[in-house]
Amino acid sequence: MIEDVDLRDPRADEILVRLVATGICHTDLTVKARAGGVGAAVLGHEGAGVVEEVGPAVRGVRPGDHVVLTFASCGSCDLCRAGAPSYCELFGPLNSGGVLGSGDDTLHGAGGRIGGSFFGQSSFATHALTRSSNTVVVPRTLDLAMAAPLGCGVQTGAGAVLNVLRPDEDSSLLILGLGGVGLSALMIARAIGVETVVAVDPVASRREVARRLGASLVLPPADDLVAVVRERTGGGVTHALDTTANTQVITQAFDALARRGQLVLVGLGMGELRIDGSQLMSGGRTVRGCIEGDAVPHDLIGELASMHESGALPLEAIVRHYPFELINTAVDDMRDGSAIKPVLLFG
Ligand SMILES: [Zn+2]
Ligand SMILES: [Zn+2]
Repeated sequence: MIEDVDLRDPRADEILVRLVATGICHTDLTVKARAGGVGAAVLGHEGAGVVEEVGPAVRGVRPGDHVVLTFASCGSCDLCRAGAPSYCELFGPLNSGGVLGSGDDTLHGAGGRIGGSFFGQSSFATHALTRSSNTVVVPRTLDLAMAAPLGCGVQTGAGAVLNVLRPDEDSSLLILGLGGVGLSALMIARAIGVETVVAVDPVASRREVARRLGASLVLPPADDLVAVVRERTGGGVTHALDTTANTQVITQAFDALARRGQLVLVGLGMGELRIDGSQLMSGGRTVRGCIEGDAVPHDLIGELASMHESGALPLEAIVRHYPFELINTAVDDMRDGSAIKPVLLFG
């Protein structure tokens, strides 16, 4: 539903951003599905736009700057200071508190308070209130309509590869799930020279995109996936990334790992995992969760933006644009797999 609501003025440490584009991420759909009892809210957390106004305490961001928005973090807890803002002690309240009704009040409509400040932005709107911790200034040459998903989905997949898995040219990487996150991981792996990338997804059109982006082996999910992967990679993969949050798929990914292999999990909402403890031990294997690609967004988003501008991160392979008014069509296309990364454009 699209309607006019009031956004309060920026406080001393806040930034008012006019959105140019915003991606849709699966977390928006997950929260929408769960938020039935919470009441009206504005979601959206892959915004990109132009700064209109900054509070007097804001440093490093000026009116007119082009910015990519990302997740919010406090900047002062032990984890933020250790360079791990995606594990910020206040991650929950700062990113979903406003939508759950406990956080900041930024939006009001005819019926009263509306949940806002989602990921410190609520970017399914023409304007957003942000802070410098989740506002990354980017070059004016960067196409904001392509860059919007850098703030969450692309950062999540790319960061999981660059910051956590860290494969090299001789590694083999298995990617489960070829949505925006999985295909971003694939693009980055190819960009850093990983030769062997096995990509798995039930949707044929997504497998075709993976093939075009340089996956060496593309497969639909299957009961014998582990055997096929083991055979084609000479005994198992050195690295694996699960984006599906499907516990059966995760078990397969674990079973496909070579000795000392590492599996990273980035899918939201997975249940209890079943993995063989002695396989974990005896092979020196690792299973690890990862939020937002372990990114320090002010570093990683800049790096990804320049890779995109140089042609090494072809986001146009996954992005499909829609006018903002067609947000529901974009969501439907994302759900049925026909759009990989919908990005909404403000007219
Ligand atoms: Zn923090
Ligand atoms: Zn997201």
